[in-house]
Amino acid sequence: MKIIMLGAPGAGKGTQAKQIADKYTIPHISTGDIFRANIKNGTELGRKAKQYMDQGLLVPDELTCDLVMDRIGQADCANGFVLDGFPRTIPQAEALTNALEKIGQTMDYAIDVDVPDANIVERMSGRRACLNCGATYHIVSIPTKVEGICDRCGSEVVLREDDAPETVQKRLAVYHEQTQPLIDYYQKQGILKSVDGTQPMEKVFADIVAILEA
Ligand code: ADP
Ligand code: ADP
Ligand code: ZN
Repeated sequence: MKIIMLGAPGAGKGTQAKQIADKYTIPHISTGDIFRANIKNGTELGRKAKQYMDQGLLVPDELTCDLVMDRIGQADCANGFVLDGFPRTIPQAEALTNALEKIGQTMDYAIDVDVPDANIVERMSGRRACLNCGATYHIVSIPTKVEGICDRCGSEVVLREDDAPETVQKRLAVYHEQTQPLIDYYQKQGILKSVDGTQPMEKVFADIVAILEA
């Protein structure tokens, strides 16, 4: 099962992608997590990506596409994968379509987690992220068991620098301009499905499972 998660920053793509990956035992591939791991480890890619991420801009396609194509070619992706945060531009989507075409494959689902802009700033200001294991929480709706500490790995959870309200506004504008056109792109490919992302996390997941098992 090869799945793309679409949706605005903060719509809940990561939250849902992790649950899908667990339920169907397929890898969760988050380009944001890959970039943040590179920043943490001080790599050249991390240094370059950070300049864009801090401003709420997209990392250029040249730095993004190859790393995803390499990742989905690895053995653990043979039975499928869930892409979270990629593609984010039409050229990225075309690169993915072309890479899969070469091996006679196509994506199965593009799931749009729909959340209006008005809800996004509140979601982001309450988001707490574990930079060690990638888990995400929300101070009100999905709190950690112990305040400030990741349930999964015991590291500290933090407000991401790019979740500051000004940067979130910029990211939303970038989303509408560069990423939203993908909804049409996958509609035309006939694989687009939409879920109401304003529902509680468990209900959103149930709707996604119903789509995947229809
Ligand atoms: P969110 O979960 O809030 O949508 P991500 O963790 O997916 O955020 O991404 C954080 C940042 O990493 C983005 O704002 C962007 O700068 C960069 N990024 C992640 N994925 C991509 C991508 N596919 N193309 C370009 N930039 C990306
Ligand atoms: P994305 O990967 O799309 O940027 P996340 O999965 O990181 O989004 O979710 C953004 C924030 O919203 C996080 O703080 C997360 O805990 C919270 N969240 C995710 N899904 C829901 C939901 N259905 N209802 C309320 N809050 C949610
Ligand atoms: Zn953790």
